Amino acid sequence: MPTKTFRSKADLAINGAPPAFDQPLHVGRPNIGDRDAFTQRVNKILDNQWLTNNGPMVLEFERRIAAHLGVKHCIAMCNGTIALEIAIRALGLEGEVIVPSWTFVATAHALYWQGITPVFADIDPATHNLDPEAVRRMITPRTSGIIGVHLWGRAALIDELQSLADEHGLKLMFDAAHAFGSTYKGQTIGRFGACEVLSFHATKSFNTFEGGAVVTDDEELAEKMRLMRNFGFHGYDNVIHPGTNGKMIEVCAAMGLTNLDGHSDVITINMRNHSAYTAALRGMPGISVLAYDPAEHNSHHYVVIEVDPSCTVTRDQIVAALQAENVLARKYFWPGAHRMKPYSEIFPHANLLLRNTEFVAAKVVILPSGMSVALEDIATIGAIIKQMVEG
Ligand SMILES: *Cc1c(COP(=O)(O)O)cnc(C)c1O
Repeated sequence: MPTKTFRSKADLAINGAPPAFDQPLHVGRPNIGDRDAFTQRVNKILDNQWLTNNGPMVLEFERRIAAHLGVKHCIAMCNGTIALEIAIRALGLEGEVIVPSWTFVATAHALYWQGITPVFADIDPATHNLDPEAVRRMITPRTSGIIGVHLWGRAALIDELQSLADEHGLKLMFDAAHAFGSTYKGQTIGRFGACEVLSFHATKSFNTFEGGAVVTDDEELAEKMRLMRNFGFHGYDNVIHPGTNGKMIEVCAAMGLTNLDGHSDVITINMRNHSAYTAALRGMPGISVLAYDPAEHNSHHYVVIEVDPSCTVTRDQIVAALQAENVLARKYFWPGAHRMKPYSEIFPHANLLLRNTEFVAAKVVILPSGMSVALEDIATIGAIIKQMVEG
């Protein structure tokens, strides 16, 4: 039995259930940086009486993020999904765009929402990232681009996808929602493709409550996205571009600045947690922990375990048992975007082309990590799984 029973406000909010602030907390909660530093920043915002519209906190946040990632431009937005939508529009994507189905559904929705058809390509079951050969097979005369996803913060096969895009005259951008602080061949994620999109949602390793950004070295693209984010306004009264409201607010930037200062501590704890999970689950028949590439940086935020069909218990039984103990284990991103609406209706036979996606989606469990997860929680989670598997 776990030593503490938690119930997550974050998960209740995500699942649309009413918040229950008087309930105990789950194992698995957002990372919250130095509270005093945050409240000082909030007081500064209130003193300034500048709440939104490119205020000083957002400008400082954008500068800090750009410097942190070694990229020229950071355009902060209200969330990662709007950032994806704006990037897609700014790049002029149209017709069909190739994406993995094995991702959070927002990658596909950001296209569909704007009248573009997401076409799903299969993944490599070893890395969970897009298989460039599968992408190649999905290219048609209507294809205008590819959105690669750095799933679990592991960089996609960027060079292969870029060559493929160049060969076929396609635009390439990345959903880097999981990859804040990750590297590819030693270079920080943020400068690859035409642009990369970050999410700072509460469930990510680095959060601004809700938030997102597009990062790019392309000055012209950055300028276009700045306009689109703010209704196309260029100064007061002068609208020079179609646009929407994608702005980040000051208080979110204050959270971002605070959490950025604490992010290296989060990574240290995540790495410790990841090793502890790996050790606790080692040798359990049918259970494996997806390893990160030791040569690359990663926030180690996602502890991905795979329950093989040969295991004595099913993936769903493990998830149910952990959730019954208030451990926030999740089946991200089951059953795959291709089995969600509207895509299951548009592509009723997509499963036939997405064999690896289907195989992986059936066996993944994400275990909680982050600052709120203690080593004894991991020992308890390991013991629960061991008891189930070994009977
Ligand atoms: C979280 C996430 C998004 C969406 O970001 P929000 O900030 O929640 O809108 C997009 N893609 C992936 C892969 C994500 O995990």
